Amino acid sequence: MGQIKLTNIKKSFGAVDVLHDINLHIDDGELVVFVGPSGCGKSTLLRVIAGLEQVSGGTLEIDGRRVNDVTAAERGLAMVFQSYALYPHMTVRQNLAFGLENSKMPKVEIAERITEAARMLEIEAYMDRRPGQLSGGQRQRVAIGRAIVRRPVAFLLDEPLSNLDAELRVSTRAELAALHARLSSTMIYVTHDQVEAMTLADRIVVMRAGRIEQVGTPLEIYNRPANRFVAGFIGAPH
Ligand code: ADP
Ligand code: MG
Repeated sequence: MGQIKLTNIKKSFGAVDVLHDINLHIDDGELVVFVGPSGCGKSTLLRVIAGLEQVSGGTLEIDGRRVNDVTAAERGLAMVFQSYALYPHMTVRQNLAFGLENSKMPKVEIAERITEAARMLEIEAYMDRRPGQLSGGQRQRVAIGRAIVRRPVAFLLDEPLSNLDAELRVSTRAELAALHARLSSTMIYVTHDQVEAMTLADRIVVMRAGRIEQVGTPLEIYNRPANRFVAGFIGAPH
């Protein structure tokens, strides 16, 4: 579970072509990082995979099933945004429970999932607080917890750490890597930060102006950049 295949994916907004023939195969359990300068189409590509945007062309498959016309809710993916998107009037516990209660899941199972996610993310101490009473780092853990309780086939994270200060970003990045190892589920992680990409990724997808410039492991990208753009962006010798 968690294989994602993109074939000739295109996306336009009106007359503006934002994604051009994107081809990519993500394996089950991989942590793939989309990296590239601001405006190159990273978020749009993630939103297309999530089902928050319709593609203008091409085929999107999850675990061998064509999902072009499948709703976001039915794709089995969970998205984590830069801006937490927590419900301010609900407690942490209620925020975690929210999506599950709508799914008619038995209460016992909801409670079990919440306990497990809270332990994994070490947020047990503030389950009864509201988001306004938490630090940025704590809020982002809750946002990740809300994705975890859904047991998605893949996690889609759009610049999840960019609102945190530098020190917290580094420690939270390490925690995310540990979490990925523990959950062993597919993760797609979007960032404009080369260092973040090099540290986290099993494979990096370097994008520029709506196209993929190179796909490879951090070492491959660093040692054998496909062109000057990739070399310059990654900071590799060229
Ligand atoms: P990134 O996440 O890499 O910074 P985005 O995917 O947000 O880039 O944006 C890629 C391009 O698509 C940008 O030029 C942006 O202005 C454009 N774009 C994104 N969303 C929309 C939209 N809903 N309508 C029109 N243009 C959009
Ligand atoms: Mg973006």
